[in-house]
Amino acid sequence: MDLKALIRDIPDFPKPGIIFRDITTLLRDREGLRYTIDTLSDKFQKANLIPDYVIGIESRGFLFGPSLAYQFNAGFVPVRKPGKLPAAVHSMEYDLEYGKDKVEMHQDALPPNSKVVIVDDLIATGGTAKATADLVNKIDCELLGFGFIIELKDLEGRNKLPDVPIITLVDY
Ligand code: IMP
Repeated sequence: MDLKALIRDIPDFPKPGIIFRDITTLLRDREGLRYTIDTLSDKFQKANLIPDYVIGIESRGFLFGPSLAYQFNAGFVPVRKPGKLPAAVHSMEYDLEYGKDKVEMHQDALPPNSKVVIVDDLIATGGTAKATADLVNKIDCELLGFGFIIELKDLEGRNKLPDVPIITLVDY
């Protein structure tokens, strides 16, 4: 299936010069949504990435992560922007083009030695996914791999990530 045909390009969003890859048009397409989740989970399976937990990154990782978790009979754990999670959290700061950002996860979200995968809609510079991997590292869990619907290749975000398999469906 041609997933690119279902992903909408929005020029100059959120800033001039940026082409935003909009996955809402993919999500609303019945066959596209099914194909996306099935293909992602097939690729995980073939790469022997069978997680106990799928970690989804706010916010678009929440749109794909739970369906992937369901396929593996795994649990889903959200990683959120600062100040959103109600219980005690681990935090990880990371650099943006201008300034810094942070991701947080509940301290008790994952039992020690869990096998986890990290999922988001898109990898650009890799900063968000790297910070999420660092969070997982803090709590003695085994990171099996990453899954992204879209990879922006030119930004070479994958080079920032730890040496585990990275599953993607579409490149730009
Ligand atoms: P990174 O940290 O630079 O890899 O940026 C990845 C994060 O930014 C992900 O959580 C994405 O959801 C978001 N993001 C960046 N660019 C886009 C885009 O064009 N479409 C959708 N999400 C984007």
